Amino acid sequence: MKSLLDGSKPCLYALDFYYDGHRKTGIIGPSIVVRVHNKFIEGFKFNPDMPALEIMKERFGLTDFKYDLKSDIGYNGVIKRVGGPQERHAGFDFTEFKVNLPWKKTQIEGQCSKCGGSAMIDDEDCPDCFGTGFDYLENEDIESEINTISASLAVLFSILRDDSVYDISTDRKQLLTVETIPQVRNEESSLFGIVSSDLMMNIFPNIYKGKYLIADKIIGSMIAAYNCMNFGGDPTDSKSESELAKFRINIGDKFSLLMYAPGTTISSGSECLIYPNTYGRAGAYKYTSKDINSPLIQLVFLAGLAQLYREGQFWMHRPYM
Ligand SMILES: [Zn+2]
Repeated sequence: MKSLLDGSKPCLYALDFYYDGHRKTGIIGPSIVVRVHNKFIEGFKFNPDMPALEIMKERFGLTDFKYDLKSDIGYNGVIKRVGGPQERHAGFDFTEFKVNLPWKKTQIEGQCSKCGGSAMIDDEDCPDCFGTGFDYLENEDIESEINTISASLAVLFSILRDDSVYDISTDRKQLLTVETIPQVRNEESSLFGIVSSDLMMNIFPNIYKGKYLIADKIIGSMIAAYNCMNFGGDPTDSKSESELAKFRINIGDKFSLLMYAPGTTISSGSECLIYPNTYGRAGAYKYTSKDINSPLIQLVFLAGLAQLYREGQFWMHRPYM
């Protein structure tokens, strides 16, 4: 069987991350993208007894997973079918699905009631409007929206774990896989998967070098996702430096990569650690982030991994843009 571990698996699904950053233009963002090979969609048969469905029912009370891949999918249809072909990014054989991350606050007409529109309080950015002076509408449903997205993606990735033989022909290799278990209340959340050696070999030489800083791009995507769901201000605004400093990417032993976000600490197991898979077939990498204490941070790491996928495609298939 063609395996991701030896880098020969044709791409069943790819990840990507979009961030437009211009809410006033009506374009929503940031969003996590999953592109699924059309042969998989043609041959897909939904299994109503999937264990993932039971977990989501127990943890979130979610029961109505929409699984027709020719339409929007997920609970409440939160994974939107964009369609295809996506020539620009992954050849003609993929259908694109997209999850728009929810904003905690949405900018509306009028002035911030706390600072009166001045944007400043005691020479600091107003905490209510993040130094914009604009009024915001608070999203009261943000927590359940995040849970629904997290649960929907967990089921989708569980579906895409399918190793059945599909007649997939594409020059694209699968660069990484994702499996997630979303957390609720005191339950543990985790994120894990495999990263192809091709991807890592293309990433390492370029991660801190040159004009195109991969580490900065990944951190930027994680911050955009975090700010959107956590603050809701415009993610391009300046934020507290201590909060931003918690986003870091380090190179660890033996060409491992460590990704940190707020709420994750060094060696806690909650950081996202990409490490060489020395116990199996040589070459591949695995990654894991356990004990994440919120679905929000899980989605933030997913945004970082989606950006990593994007970077991999860029370096391996240049020029694709
Ligand atoms: Zn204000």
